[in-house]
Amino acid sequence: MSDVIAQSVIRNVVIIGSGPAGYTAAIYAGRASLNPLVFEGFQIGGIPGGQLMTTTEVENFPGFPEGIMGPQLMMHMKDQAVNCGAELVMEDVVAVDFSDQPFTITSSSQSVQAHSVIIATGATAKRLNLPSEAQYWNRGISACAVCDGAAPIFRGAELAVVGGGDTAVEEALFLTKYGSKVHLLVRSDHLRASKVMQQRVLNHPKISVHWHSLAIDVYGEGIVQGVKMRDTITNEERNLAVGGIFYAIGHTPNTELFAGQIELDATGYIMTKGKSTATNIEGVYACGDVQDHEYRQAVTAAGTGCMAALEVERWLSAKMAF
Ligand code: NDP
Repeated sequence: MSDVIAQSVIRNVVIIGSGPAGYTAAIYAGRASLNPLVFEGFQIGGIPGGQLMTTTEVENFPGFPEGIMGPQLMMHMKDQAVNCGAELVMEDVVAVDFSDQPFTITSSSQSVQAHSVIIATGATAKRLNLPSEAQYWNRGISACAVCDGAAPIFRGAELAVVGGGDTAVEEALFLTKYGSKVHLLVRSDHLRASKVMQQRVLNHPKISVHWHSLAIDVYGEGIVQGVKMRDTITNEERNLAVGGIFYAIGHTPNTELFAGQIELDATGYIMTKGKSTATNIEGVYACGDVQDHEYRQAVTAAGTGCMAALEVERWLSAKMAF
């Protein structure tokens, strides 16, 4: 089946995105001789390789008992996708047309037609949209401690992290390597992070947790010198002198490209059918964080990437049988 399709100018499958979901889909589709074309992305929705490219140690991906650095894990997945026959292009997809078969996928330099598409565009870190955010972005405000924490402006400074989930506690712990002290600003009275991570933060001598604390702006002479906070119970405002503020308040799914063409849920994640990765458009599948706001793990993203490729293979076989 696949030999016939492969000779056509219409691709069997185009994969959009290159995190664990995209690369795993590419590995499986490559091994199924579907000659997948992967748009790895370039800038939109974050750097190629996805969120693990900005992570340090990954301790929970099976098969690495000593842990593995996020970027290294992604390089392994990418190499494996290429070895299995995937063709990778480091470009952003700028438009898709799912209104007709074959689908059209347009990147910055080319337009490609495909019988099927796997969407694996992931999710992007949210911003607080503080009044002075644009002015101080990269001048003391960052959405990624792992990417920026080692910068000279943060070394030896008191730093703030906003959020109470696993990302926030991980980033706070990470920043203790560089900052003299780390303040975790939590808007409620509890952390959402896993119990083990909560304990690490609560017991860390360099971390102070500020409960009921909402960041409302930053201030400073050219660079961040402090954060303005409001107590969510008393509404009292106060300044906290810090040399950097790191956002860790969750993610937005990268679905802007598909809006109006594919069914999204109320928060913008792609809806998939039942236990499958099938979307409301026949031949279009979605895997990884772009369709999962619950588990959001590298291993679950990889798992759904595998599912998407298997479902594409079955769908193409059925379609070509007619
Ligand atoms: P979460 O959605 O879990 O947490 C977001 C946090 O940010 C919450 O504490 C939330 O507060 C807070 N928040 C949201 N908006 C604002 C705001 N405007 N101002 C102040 N605080 C705000 O996101 P995470 O990125 O932490 O985690 C996402 C998923 O990824 C989770 O399932 C997590 O377990 C997982 N994860 C796993 C890791 C691992 O296993 N190593 C590492 C990182 C993430 P509130 O609670 O009040 O809503």
